[in-house]
Amino acid sequence: MPTPRNRLRRSPKLREDEFYCVACRRRCKSKKEDMCVISLTNGRHALYGYCKPCDCDTYKFLKDKDVSRLTKKYGKC
Ligand SMILES: [Zn+2]
Repeated sequence: MPTPRNRLRRSPKLREDEFYCVACRRRCKSKKEDMCVISLTNGRHALYGYCKPCDCDTYKFLKDKDVSRLTKKYGKC
């Protein structure tokens, strides 16, 4: 059973090439050729995407198990 508090904050599942853009405050799709994996200073990884409608950068954190697969697919930043 999922914990009840998770139901309050509804976060729709993003597809791999979808990002939540903080600038236009909605999900946006990034082109594959604009996407890449970036290493963060805290040892985590994020997927970088580009939001074309508002011309801004967008990121999302990656699960450790997805890092190597997505790095192969999109390359490193
Ligand atoms: Zn945007």
